[in-house]
Amino acid sequence: MLLEGDKPREACGVLGIYAPGLDVARLAYFGLYALQHRGQESAGIAVGDGKRITCHKGMGLVSEVFTEEILRQLKGKVAIGHVRYSTTGESSVENAQPLVFHYRDGMISLGHNGNLTNYAELRKRLAAEGVVFQTTSDSELIVSILARSSQSDPVEGILRTMGEIKGAYSLVIMTENRLYGIRDPHGVRPLCLGRLDRGYVIASESAALDTIGAEMIRDVEPGEVVVIDESGITSLRCHYPSPRSLCVFEFVYFARPDSVIDGLNVQRARTALGRQLAREYPLNADLVIPVPDSGTSAALAYAAERGLPFCEGLMKNRYVGRTFIRPTQEMRDLGVRLKLNPIREVLAGKRVIMLDDSIVRGTTSRKIVQMIRDAGAREVHMLVSSPPILYPCYYGIDTSRRGELIAARHDLAEIRELIGADSLNYLSIDGLLAAMAPLSPESFCSACFSGRYPIDVSGIG
Ligand code: SF4
Repeated sequence: MLLEGDKPREACGVLGIYAPGLDVARLAYFGLYALQHRGQESAGIAVGDGKRITCHKGMGLVSEVFTEEILRQLKGKVAIGHVRYSTTGESSVENAQPLVFHYRDGMISLGHNGNLTNYAELRKRLAAEGVVFQTTSDSELIVSILARSSQSDPVEGILRTMGEIKGAYSLVIMTENRLYGIRDPHGVRPLCLGRLDRGYVIASESAALDTIGAEMIRDVEPGEVVVIDESGITSLRCHYPSPRSLCVFEFVYFARPDSVIDGLNVQRARTALGRQLAREYPLNADLVIPVPDSGTSAALAYAAERGLPFCEGLMKNRYVGRTFIRPTQEMRDLGVRLKLNPIREVLAGKRVIMLDDSIVRGTTSRKIVQMIRDAGAREVHMLVSSPPILYPCYYGIDTSRRGELIAARHDLAEIRELIGADSLNYLSIDGLLAAMAPLSPESFCSACFSGRYPIDVSGIG
């Protein structure tokens, strides 16, 4: 049982460290710790010592997969790390990353955040050419194509591979003594570059850089390949110019509020979402409460803009992760209760505005609304700081299949009825994109709201 409610689930977080003389495995461990929210199914770290690559990975949280003893054995000057929630491929240790392969010129390791949209076609083609796969993940295809590249210069091989793979990918790749950071030509998933006293870091989010004391240099640009080795940083661009399509959901829900993506701080964006919501739906009530934690910044901004009291009306148990202990039938509804508990003293007799960042299947919203009513609230008005999710994501986020999306099957009045709220309102798409200023609306993917997919998805089986 996953106790994440029915939120979209992030696919992965990646991290790379090049720092001869430092404990790269330990730095990777703490960097991954900061990226844990991006994937909780498996974690792994691979380390290169100049001669070979050693890797440890397993199912579970970073803190469950690694021990002091394991970290001590991972010695080297370059490391990559990965946390995963599976979007293609099964949830099994074979699909855990980093993936490590032997190829013509030595060893190579890869960590991938995103999803290839031409996976089926590529796999069929490679299988016909006799390639045997160890995993069912699309990430292995990238290594296969890369390893088969006839280029003697690895960077040329990477650039050619980028010409064959389509979709969303932020990659960290490592050989025994070199680190590469690669972002797809649309820049769908984030990737940034930082500096340590004696080395460099590449990470999905800048919060990971802060955590290990690295200073942010800049974002890796869409279509860019960053190479880090003993001669420093080299940057190359692929020759497949594409419109920038950064995932807007990173700002709505996935990324940490303390991260900065393509120059925009996530907390600032969420605050702007709350203000925009107040402009679109200026409701009156006794208080505003967030669904913690991802609804908090927008709820605070909404309350401030409307001059209403902001209160914590739901207490979150921060120590609930995943549990494989199945509840009995009578305990089915406990899932949400284990994670959130209403504060009766705050809610009793009140007209409550409850603000959440998104609704996927609606099952959790229904339970939370009921919980707030059971705690004595007189009215429950639900506001959502993103538009209705109408379409699935094919770029590395598990938003569920279309048939499971409540907004794809019901209109606003029906959803309100189903979740049991007195009123329900979602932010408009224009409002969402306007809140991303100074980044322009054209620079985002918002396909799960609009159905306008920036990268062809017709090849997805
Ligand atoms: S479809 Fe939605 S979740 Fe997927 S990349 Fe685009 S904005 Fe992000």
